[in-house]
Amino acid sequence: MLTVHAHPDDEASKGAATVARYHAQGVHTVLVCCTGGEEGDLQNASLREEGQPFHGLTPEQEKEKVGQLRAAELQASAGIIGFDEVVMLGYRDSGMADTPPNEDPDSFFQADLDEAVGRLVAVIRRTHPQVVITYGDDQSGYPHPDHLRVHDISVLAFDRAGDPDWYPDAGDPFQPSKLYYSAWSRARMMAIHEALLQRDGESPFDEKWFERPNQDHRITTRIDASGFLWARTGALLAHATQVDPNEKFWFGLSDDELAGAYGWDDWILARSLVGDIPADDRERDLFENVPVEALHGEGSGRS
Ligand SMILES: [Zn+2]
Repeated sequence: MLTVHAHPDDEASKGAATVARYHAQGVHTVLVCCTGGEEGDLQNASLREEGQPFHGLTPEQEKEKVGQLRAAELQASAGIIGFDEVVMLGYRDSGMADTPPNEDPDSFFQADLDEAVGRLVAVIRRTHPQVVITYGDDQSGYPHPDHLRVHDISVLAFDRAGDPDWYPDAGDPFQPSKLYYSAWSRARMMAIHEALLQRDGESPFDEKWFERPNQDHRITTRIDASGFLWARTGALLAHATQVDPNEKFWFGLSDDELAGAYGWDDWILARSLVGDIPADDRERDLFENVPVEALHGEGSGRS
């Protein structure tokens, strides 16, 4: 299994429990992180308190220190989730839309599309994932330039990795079987919102969240993540500069409460070379229909 993400911390906030579950079953798990998250600001104000690493720093010093810490945070997060390998694709964080970092020639936003796809194709040809996970085609709810690019290169890499005419120097062709989009479902948001309202009388989910386009009708696959929510929580906390441990949006419900409210990770099957795309959300396994004889390597053979 190979998951493509934009920044360090995206692997923690999207699908971490599903990856942990498959890793526990013996699936070889690869994380591709396209940028180093260089434009991230300090999101955890408690680190500015006395005795904490960001105490007394200027904004410039703060930014530099965040940049230095993010690689180690990513390694810690990936270790908790159970990624067997972390591959940095090597681009610079493009920042939010229409900001100066978009213009940086090293940014993911400025990268030549075919060249970026080639880097991902090389990883696919080396690691042989049957299942590739990326972001969806409709990201209007959060149109970060790097997240849009993750989608674009993943879809093209899925199509080109098995084509010997593309990137002949990037390894022997290998065709993955299935491509999934991660989804933050409306159903999940509503369940958390209602559980917090019931318990506390308030919720961090306000109207702007519910104005995001509802794509729940596109969900094909629900993975029971209820026994692996510790991976999501632990991985988020590992990104100490990016995630405030007191933030209700992330941690309002305990793992047990979340499991009770909504223990699923939701996915959209976008491409399949091994059977039809389900018309509803009945699928319960990302490897469904992946034929055993197509599996690569020893052990359980799933990857
Ligand atoms: Zn991101």
